[in-house]
Amino acid sequence: MGNKGLKVFLAILLQYSSSPSLQFSKYNIPLQIWQGFESVYGGHMKVKHIDHIGVAVKSIEQAGKFYTDILGLKIEDIENVADQKVNVAFLPITDSEVELLESTEPDGPVAKYIDSRGEGVQHIAFRVENIDEALKELKAKGVRLIDQEPRKGAGGAKIAFIHPKETHGVLVEICERE
Ligand code: ZN
Repeated sequence: MGNKGLKVFLAILLQYSSSPSLQFSKYNIPLQIWQGFESVYGGHMKVKHIDHIGVAVKSIEQAGKFYTDILGLKIEDIENVADQKVNVAFLPITDSEVELLESTEPDGPVAKYIDSRGEGVQHIAFRVENIDEALKELKAKGVRLIDQEPRKGAGGAKIAFIHPKETHGVLVEICERE
């Protein structure tokens, strides 16, 4: 238990010892202790579903043919995200979508990704209910982040990336949409 956890635990223990009535959590732990423990270690991040899978491609026109002609998906829109030097094609599937990412500059992050690792799945994005809360929670748990604060992603989403060292090699994005 970390220092912060210990302090919270002791504070709650004190409060609990002077509390007149006892309630128990589903694990038969006094509720006040359980809630304090959960607030430090529990998962409050509400992941709703996979928002999208980001696929790095050399050409949306070329790679898009597999998704449209073979899988029968539709490219709903193509958006330029200037600060990421990327064009993003959206191919929705129920609550999720495939996003094809095509670099607009040879020094863009997607171009660099393809240079070192080739075309392919570049990141997985999980939709969360509240990205500010999710980032706060990740920081409290000491999870290394690429983005300390949410930034604007394609399709008007608020997004942030978790460091791949924390996720066993998967670049994980969390995102919130209206
Ligand atoms: Zn993404």
